[in-house]
Amino acid sequence: MAAQREIGLAKLIGGASAKKLKDHLGLATAGDLLDHFPRRYAQRGELTRIAELPVDTDVTLLARVVKVTNRKMAARRGSITEVLVTDGLDGALDTISLTFFNSFAAARQLTPGTVAMFSGRVGTYRGRLQLTNPDYVLLDGGSADGLSAEELADKPIPVYPATAKLPSWKIAQATETLLAQIDLSTLPDPLPAALREHYGLPPIAEAYRMVHTPVNAQEWALARRRFQYEEALVLQTALARRKAQHAQLPSRPSPARRGGLLEAFDARLPFTLTEGQRDVGRTLAAELAANHPMNRLLQGEVGSGKTVVALRAMLQVVDDGGQAALLAPTEVLASQHYESIRRTLGPLARDGILSAGASDVPDVEVVLLTGSQSGGERRRSLLAAASGEAGIVVGTHALLSEHVQFADLGLVVVDEQHRFGVEQRDALRAKSLATPHLLVMTATPIPRTVAMTVFGDLETSVLRELPAGRSPIATHVVGLVENPSWERRIWARAREEIDAGQQVYVVCPTIGESGEDEGDLEALDEATWGGTALGPLEERQPAASVAAVVAQLAEEPALAGTRVGVLHGRLERTEKAAAMEAFASGSTDLLVATTVVEVGVDVPNATLMVILDADRFGIAQLHQLRGRVGRGGHQGTCLLVTSLEPGHPSRTRLEAVASSTDGFVLAQKDLENRREGDILGATQSGRRSTLRLLRVLRDADVIERARADALQIVGDDPDLERHADLRASIDAYLEPEKEVFLERG
Ligand code: ADP
Ligand code: MG
Repeated sequence: MAAQREIGLAKLIGGASAKKLKDHLGLATAGDLLDHFPRRYAQRGELTRIAELPVDTDVTLLARVVKVTNRKMAARRGSITEVLVTDGLDGALDTISLTFFNSFAAARQLTPGTVAMFSGRVGTYRGRLQLTNPDYVLLDGGSADGLSAEELADKPIPVYPATAKLPSWKIAQATETLLAQIDLSTLPDPLPAALREHYGLPPIAEAYRMVHTPVNAQEWALARRRFQYEEALVLQTALARRKAQHAQLPSRPSPARRGGLLEAFDARLPFTLTEGQRDVGRTLAAELAANHPMNRLLQGEVGSGKTVVALRAMLQVVDDGGQAALLAPTEVLASQHYESIRRTLGPLARDGILSAGASDVPDVEVVLLTGSQSGGERRRSLLAAASGEAGIVVGTHALLSEHVQFADLGLVVVDEQHRFGVEQRDALRAKSLATPHLLVMTATPIPRTVAMTVFGDLETSVLRELPAGRSPIATHVVGLVENPSWERRIWARAREEIDAGQQVYVVCPTIGESGEDEGDLEALDEATWGGTALGPLEERQPAASVAAVVAQLAEEPALAGTRVGVLHGRLERTEKAAAMEAFASGSTDLLVATTVVEVGVDVPNATLMVILDADRFGIAQLHQLRGRVGRGGHQGTCLLVTSLEPGHPSRTRLEAVASSTDGFVLAQKDLENRREGDILGATQSGRRSTLRLLRVLRDADVIERARADALQIVGDDPDLERHADLRASIDAYLEPEKEVFLERG
């Protein structure tokens, strides 16, 4: 009976408790409360470390009373009871004072030696930690459940995510009442019995009991394992089913043709493809020729040559009379792709309708389509896409707009996937009758289990080697606190580079000028997640801004006479394009920019990147940024400039980036520093964005097993007809809004 979960809490545990749970924690139904798991479990013998309590936070702590004093209030009627409690560690920081106003119960119950669980918000008073009027429950008294003293000592105390108004043990009481009221044995169990038995995991009813009222630590550990596996299985089965369903759809087969564009292109290539590029190329060629859609993720370091691989796939489709769309995350990047594709194609790129069919050489019309194009440009591109005149359409998310039509869309390439959601992929695919083939490219190396979790419906290819002649980038941390004089040295270094005919990027975290930095807030977000140890950003010096740095460099003697360009997200589209063009063509020497240069921007002549206040960026972003230099066969150098003290936690991130050029190693470090929600959140917009119990790194083995099991289940039972409970969980997972709706109804 699925309905058990949807029963309102008021019916089960009483209106007053239900209202509290709803108001403070948003828990409305039996299912909500069952799924509100303890954050951890305390053991009776083991007290909370007081020195580690965070100030201004709601805490639950287990402590022993040391001393109690009662006194009358001076100004008003009433009394104050001051209770000093300890965690038994015997240091100056290992006590906290609890202040009760007019609490006769506290004065009577909290005698020295008593152990209790206290709950409240940690404040400070005259430099000492204190809790004011905390809630508490005595722990060393007798027990109602008839356990022996020994059993009681073993019994874990669940500590729930709580608030000052709703302490952990009130939640525990409500949960115990709930468990006594409902018949758990009728709950549907998404885990197939065979798998449950295979892994020795408890059935759902037993698992809920073990999570909320464990008799010993083994019980809750086992129950949590079960729920973790369940979560992984639901997610992986959803992805496997999605993948299987897509694989069934008809698509436009585009087998490679002799004597077409692709052959002409290969013949003109100024370099030989790497082994990896050839390998992936063969895979793509075969999948494009099939009459079911390709669904592939292509991972590769910045500069590993993904764009060439994608372009070859596009040409194969165009050769067969189809169209290809390339979707880029920003306008700058879309324009860059457009320009560089036309450059790379050379005479194979047709110049508008006028020259169509003018020669015997096969050619293709490439058009750009972005949101901020002028009306005329935009209409021309729209028409070329709809008529089929344009073989390759490059654009931003404007391509997803419903006004955009294609005559015969055969392939969609999405660059830098991490900024695109699943829905956007689907929107673009919906633009043609047969499902277009899909190639997603990302330069952010993704550990295997993350790929499985986020892109589990895609096949994966990796380009591991960089094209020959690419020397790895040398990265140095420049600490201005220890060496203030190095700032001059940086600009002198930039000058040397420019005098040698090379170019320089200077990257700043913010735009500056007047007003808010809306355009590049992403940089700040990244800094926030990457730098959990930083504390709130506003406590720090303002970060280097493009505006301030441009002004500063104009006064810098070492840079006298150099040509400085500016690029950031708030410029007009034409200004952006002009700035990029000027830098790409070498008519500016030094480009001061925000992270808009992060993705895809390709200027082979740039050899030095100076990242100011580099500690504001996350590991992955720094790695992406520095990939912009040293692309032309010259040694690339990246300077990570910081004003943080040596040893500051955020500086260790910079050291990490300086110490490795292996994107996969860095991605792993990066993930270890991030909150889980951020990993999935960026790509799963509109879906439930966080995992409840799973951690993609810690639980890699669980995810791998669940994936294998899910593939088997979907293989045997594609529509999950014999797995109704699992299917119901997937539907609830994929449609959280619907779930909420049901709860209300
Ligand atoms: P990515 O998109 O993976 O960052 P690109 O496809 O933009 O990489 O390639 C980066 C640069 O390397 C481009 O200038 C491209 O022309 C060049 N390139 C690509 N493949 C090769 C190769 N096999 N040998 C030499 N240069 C290559
Ligand atoms: Mg690229």
